[in-house]
Parts: sequence; structure tokens; C-alpha cells
Amino acid sequence: SGILYIVATPIGNLSDMTYRAVQVLQQADLIMAEDTRHSRLLLDHYGVEGPLSTVHEHNERQRSEYLVKRLLAGENIALISDAGTPLISDPGYPLVHACREAGVQVVPIPGPCAAIAALSAAGLPTDRFLFVGFLAAKSAARVSQLTAVSEESGTLVFYESPRRILSTLRDMQDVYGADRQAVVAREVTKQFETFLAGSLSSLIDQVAADSNQQRGEIVVMVHGARRAADALPADATRLLLQLLPHMA
Ligand code: SAM
Repeated sequence: SGILYIVATPIGNLSDMTYRAVQVLQQADLIMAEDTRHSRLLLDHYGVEGPLSTVHEHNERQRSEYLVKRLLAGENIALISDAGTPLISDPGYPLVHACREAGVQVVPIPGPCAAIAALSAAGLPTDRFLFVGFLAAKSAARVSQLTAVSEESGTLVFYESPRRILSTLRDMQDVYGADRQAVVAREVTKQFETFLAGSLSSLIDQVAADSNQQRGEIVVMVHGARRAADALPADATRLLLQLLPHMA
């Protein structure tokens, strides 16, 4: 059968396209995109002419079945999203899952991803991180999502809309405390790329003071929770648990 290629595309800077991505797109029998008009412009830039079609979130499941049939019939299909890596806060999961179930080969063509690009340059720990993606639009729901990951010791990585950045930072301050270190990465790889770093309270001040910081595309990263000062060392806890059954 054919192959499904998951092709990453730039998150702003068109020079971030990989050679392999261009090759695969040029040779694909069909390119699935989120928005064909947007993607046609992008593909024109690289001289890719292949037929484009859309995966709409609402009919993604039905569409997947149809695409699996075409793949089983031997066609090669490439999936792209508007920007960055497909399936990372973008459509494609039902299709990839259906392909794996049907035994269709799925091949990633790696490239830009806003979360990874932002994390790699933020100066926060990268040995362990949790990608949370988009938060809820309403504050109450957002606070409970933030609370749900408040014990996480790895760096937290969020995508956020510029319209909500200030209220989200305030919610983060309420949940994680004013002193928690964080980084706001904006317009990564683009002309107005900025990385703001500091405590949550200082970030709130910086973003509030500069309306430019409330425009464009944003990744927010928050330092993970430090182990509580009063927590017992891990071996002490283990010992206590061993002793517990023997205590009257
Ligand atoms: N699939 C994409 C990826 O691999 O990063 C993410 C798609 S998601 C629908 C779009 C969100 O990603 C934006 O709202 C923003 O939070 C983040 N994003 C995308 N491009 C970015 C950039 N150049 N700078 C900062 N954040 C970006």
C-alpha cells in the first residue's frame, strides 16, 4: 500500500522548510491540508504543485476512512497543517490512528514545532517537560486545568492566544504563585520574535506595559513545581512504607 507522510512546515520563517519535506510534497499523489488557500500559497513558494484537499476537524473521522482506502490502493498522501508539525494542537490524529489500525505505513517528516523551538531557547529546564497545549478560553476552566498540572516537576508548555495572554498569566500567578519563573515566547522565527523571562508577576507587568506583547503567536512556558521543602527524601518515604505494616 501507499505511505502516509506527516510533514512539518515552517512556523513563520519560510527558510525553515526541510529539503525532505519539499521532496515528499512534490512526489505525493495528494496533499491534505487544513486550509487549502493558505497552503497553496505556502506550497507555491517551494514549487510544489500537487493536488490539495482539506481535512476538516468535524468530518475528520469519515475523511480518514476514505483516505485509508486510497492509501491501501497504493497512493502516497502527505498531511500538512497551517504551520509546524501536524497533530501537535492540529488535526490528523484520527487519520494516523486509522492508518496504524489498517496497517498503512506512516512516516514522519520532522521539522518546526513552536513548542520545541520555544523550549529549546527559553532557558528553562528541558530534561523533563509537559506539553499542555491550548487552555480553555474561560478563566474558571483554565484555573482547573492549571491546577490539574500543578504538581508537575517538569517545565509546563502552553499555547495561548494573544487575546488571552494577560488573563492566562494572571491565572497562572493565582495557581503557581507570583514568584514562579516563566518565559513568554512570541512570534518565534518571525521578524518580531521576543522571549520575555522572569517571575509570573514580572511577566504580567511586562506584557501589560507593552501592547505589542499581546499580538502574534505565543508559547508560554512555566518552571515545574519544586519538591515541597517539607517533603521527606524518597528513601525515607520508602522505609516508612516498609515499616507501616509492622506498626500496631
Ligand atoms: N502544529 C503547530 C506546531 O507544531 O507548533 C501548532 C499549531 S496551533 C493551532 C497554533 C499555536 O501554536 C499558536 O496559537 C501559538 O500558540 C503556537 N505557535 C505557532 N507558531 C508560533 C510562533 N511562530 N511563535 C510562537 N508560537 C507559535
